[in-house]
Amino acid sequence: MERELNERDRAGVSDAVLLEDYTNENSFIENLEKRFNENIIYTYIGQVLISVNPYKELSIYSEDDIEAYRKKYFFEVSPHVFSISDNAFRLLIEESRSQCILISGESGSGKTENSKKVLQYIAAASGHIQSVESVKDKLLQTNPILEAFGNAKTNRNNNSSRFGKYMDINFNWQGIPDGGNILNYLLEKSRIIHQNANERNFHIFYQLLNGADDSLLEKLHLKRDLNSYTYLSHGDKVGNMSDKNLDDASNFKIVNNAWNTMEMPKEEQNSLIEIIASVLHLGNVTFGEDELAKATVYENEHVHAISNILGINLDKLKHSLTHRTIDANGDLVTSPLDRDMSFYGRDALAKAVYARLFDWLVKRINTSLHTLSCEAINHHVLGILDIYGFEVFETNMFEQLCINFCNEKLQQLFIELTLKQEQEEYLREGIEWTPVSYFNNKVICDLIEEKHVGIIALMDEECLRPGDATDLTFLDKMNDRLASHPHYIFNSSRASLQIQKLVGRNEFQLRHYAGDVKYNVEGFLDKNNDLLFRNLKEAMSLSDNIILKGLFPSSEYLTSRKRPDTAITQFKNSLNNLMEILISKEPSYIRCIKPNDIQGPNSFNVELVRHQVKYLGLMENLRVRRAGFAYRRTYEAFLERYKCLSKKTWPNWKGDPRVGVQIIADELSYGTNDYRMGKTKIFIRLPKTLFQTEDAFQL
Ligand code: ATP
Ligand code: MG
Repeated sequence: MERELNERDRAGVSDAVLLEDYTNENSFIENLEKRFNENIIYTYIGQVLISVNPYKELSIYSEDDIEAYRKKYFFEVSPHVFSISDNAFRLLIEESRSQCILISGESGSGKTENSKKVLQYIAAASGHIQSVESVKDKLLQTNPILEAFGNAKTNRNNNSSRFGKYMDINFNWQGIPDGGNILNYLLEKSRIIHQNANERNFHIFYQLLNGADDSLLEKLHLKRDLNSYTYLSHGDKVGNMSDKNLDDASNFKIVNNAWNTMEMPKEEQNSLIEIIASVLHLGNVTFGEDELAKATVYENEHVHAISNILGINLDKLKHSLTHRTIDANGDLVTSPLDRDMSFYGRDALAKAVYARLFDWLVKRINTSLHTLSCEAINHHVLGILDIYGFEVFETNMFEQLCINFCNEKLQQLFIELTLKQEQEEYLREGIEWTPVSYFNNKVICDLIEEKHVGIIALMDEECLRPGDATDLTFLDKMNDRLASHPHYIFNSSRASLQIQKLVGRNEFQLRHYAGDVKYNVEGFLDKNNDLLFRNLKEAMSLSDNIILKGLFPSSEYLTSRKRPDTAITQFKNSLNNLMEILISKEPSYIRCIKPNDIQGPNSFNVELVRHQVKYLGLMENLRVRRAGFAYRRTYEAFLERYKCLSKKTWPNWKGDPRVGVQIIADELSYGTNDYRMGKTKIFIRLPKTLFQTEDAFQL
């Protein structure tokens, strides 16, 4: 409490629960701004940590800072990611309760940076024992590798994670990390073939071209000139592809060192690099058309390079890029592709190769992190989730639907876990409590994922329907089946003029828990089908490259298996799996906020922040937290601080602590409704009461 009072005037309150006018969004944002201006980027709502990206290095993450937060309770120290980490770590080690730290926020808000601080804290706090240092090193080295392959420069963040990540850290009985496991979600693979203006492809391509020595580049038939590669020069033709904040060449060294730390054999490292080089060459393969409108591969250096690097027969490769074989009830029918379809196939191949390589990389890292202890039943686990927040753009596509669906699921979890936690504490303490009303977003999750009737089911139905299914027939189907759903809004001749103006004919709108989002259906079916022609799979499976041939097993096209799940169904399944993992753990939340659009320090854009406060559901969060008891403290801790407020408890109270606390409460004339006495704690409803107590203490 002491810190709250000290900071109250200078830099707002450190816990928004203590704001008098807690329903007022403006006061809430003002408080964040006040603190931001004082370089105080962390604030609580109860035990949820809010983090505002400072966009400058603050000296708050040193070894000394780590020490300052070790084994301290929330209320003893100011809000910090180290405090959240310490709390989770101690619950894990001292009480054997599995933990997870869930980090969310929009692009550039500081999720990944905070997740690294959690890891830094855990690595430091768990002591130094030589034999397990290697596991810690490996855990820390997973970041540069995954960032090289999964991060890119975007207009919102020059080191933007283009995938979701969940990492488990396992601890042995001494509380020392001895293993880990990573799950990855929804890599933005469209970036391989296309980037928006001023954006880049994944870092690894630039790292390779800038960082590899001449002999390696020669072996890979690559030039250093970034502009030579179609897949790299979509974003910016003039070649503004380097970034002063991204040192590609030295990052390449870091990645190579990280591979060594991971104990990846040289042969694997070479194979990885060969695949990356081949993707670059693939983008430069082009097609012509003969007089019968059949595609032909322009004989150029790139198709030769791929054949050479990957060890795939040149004719086989060219044939696979220009033909398609279909299995018609057991009969294989091969037909030539036209030029457009060949380009389509080429790009689909580049995306598939890269996405599968990324999955392989995560699995490979996991093998390296996997120690015998991972099989032990009783090990402790701390999970860290760094995943995209709500996305609301001018035009929202298939990817945004997936991401926003993920956020709905996380909100469900939040409701389940935090409200449940809150209720359990009241129950444990024997406090009478009227449940708070809150919006339960299950109805939206159902709208999206319910079997047979939800949006995903309808999309899959259209994807699997032979014949004339298009994005628009999918939209029609949804408009027909979901018309009466309160969270589904669409444009029809019967819709109100307002809706007709708002929602386009090729759009639908979802009323998400955080607000409305319009989606454009263009490309939905194609992305969901995620088709890769059989001939291309076959060509890849024939490669000499040890990794690549494993990524495309011949069983995938030889046996007539049932169709693989669609992209969104796979995503839904992996999300549900994630929910199961998380629900078995005790959560801590870090909600990240981006203060401005210019990616620079000392600028706090109130409207931008307001938007995020809304989509992070922070006001609702605060309301729910305040509906209960704003503040709670064990009797012992309360007495320790306030025993001087009564002659009867000062200087030492020898009796039952509960009785001692009751004496102080009576002395200060607490109203009967202002507080409750639980089994081990006093619960104070409003901050006012606490401030009065603190004021009396200061006198
Ligand atoms: P994305 O969703 O695009 O991956 P993100 O939320 O992970 O975004 P980060 O990459 O963590 O965002 O942060 C963006 C940039 O902001 C960082 O590269 C760094 O420059 C700066 N930044 C974030 N957090 C901090 C911090 N605590 N201190 C200093 N700088 C920070
Ligand atoms: Mg990130």
